[in-house]
Amino acid sequence: MELSKLFRLVSLSAYDVCHEKCVFDPFRHVYRSGKLRLLKTLISSSCSYDCLYCHNAWNRGYKSSPEEISRLFQYMNERGLVNGAFLSNSISDPERSMDEIIEAGERIRNEFIGYLHLKIIPGCSRDQIKRAAELADRISLNIESPSYSILNEICTAKSRTDFSRTLRLALKASKKYGKSFTTQIIAGLGESDRDMVSVAERLYSMGVKRVYYSAFRPVKNTPLEKMEPEKRRRLIRLYRADALVRVYGFSAKTLSEIMKSGFLPEEDPKILLALRKIEAGGELETIEIPGIGMKKAELLKKGYSLAEIKKLGMSVKRESAFLRSQKRLADFVIC
Ligand code: SF4
Repeated sequence: MELSKLFRLVSLSAYDVCHEKCVFDPFRHVYRSGKLRLLKTLISSSCSYDCLYCHNAWNRGYKSSPEEISRLFQYMNERGLVNGAFLSNSISDPERSMDEIIEAGERIRNEFIGYLHLKIIPGCSRDQIKRAAELADRISLNIESPSYSILNEICTAKSRTDFSRTLRLALKASKKYGKSFTTQIIAGLGESDRDMVSVAERLYSMGVKRVYYSAFRPVKNTPLEKMEPEKRRRLIRLYRADALVRVYGFSAKTLSEIMKSGFLPEEDPKILLALRKIEAGGELETIEIPGIGMKKAELLKKGYSLAEIKKLGMSVKRESAFLRSQKRLADFVIC
């Protein structure tokens, strides 16, 4: 095994998000996400596509093989460095690239029953998608942009593949085999927050488990190397809006009412939406009250008071301002 080449492929997989809180440990070459320690890697970084932001399209590529990747996984797993794998690939030809992901996944699966995440390559075959869904715990397909016209501009080769067909087949296979399906969108390529939230809402209604957002970062020697990086604050705003849609059932249309020129405000959107509703004379549903998550809503439904919830060790400062029966209004400060 040529370890330096393989670790380069591991570091180049950083553009694939496995979780918003995933961090890379450069000393162990491992991505950590909660209890998972992942070998997250590309099988090859030598790509024949032309995505304007991507390192792999414009820089020297590295190639490994499914066998090398599975041996690296086994090596790291035996030493307790990893307890899961996330395999992706650059694209030479969609079916050939997907074949490599499946072969590496099969080799790993022969000896390992833990977490396996396989990337679906746009334009691969129905049978390949089915096989990936059989093998993996999670499959994902990056849709890259919420706008077809932006995708067409920045990934001309990719935009010609039938994304919606691959998405449909991948969702169908993930449901059939009971596996989770996620996707990733890049923020900072000219799209608005309204575009992002609307697409996320549509994807969740189709059965996508999570939409992840990655901030555009200019990469040296690519056509977009001089473009401004996307700010981290924007990702925070997008993840907050995403949670309101995914967890609390707010609609993209409701969220667009607090946007300015298509962009989310800096303030907590749940507080803004609650204040708006109160000002219009409306009553807040329990789940619409700022500070109330699913757990606290369940406890309130069971008849727990805020004082009792507080005794369970949970903060109730925010929600007490919105529950008229509470005496702690003076404690509340909107920040
Ligand atoms: S398809 Fe595009 S994003 Fe994916 S590796 Fe190739 S150039 Fe990069």
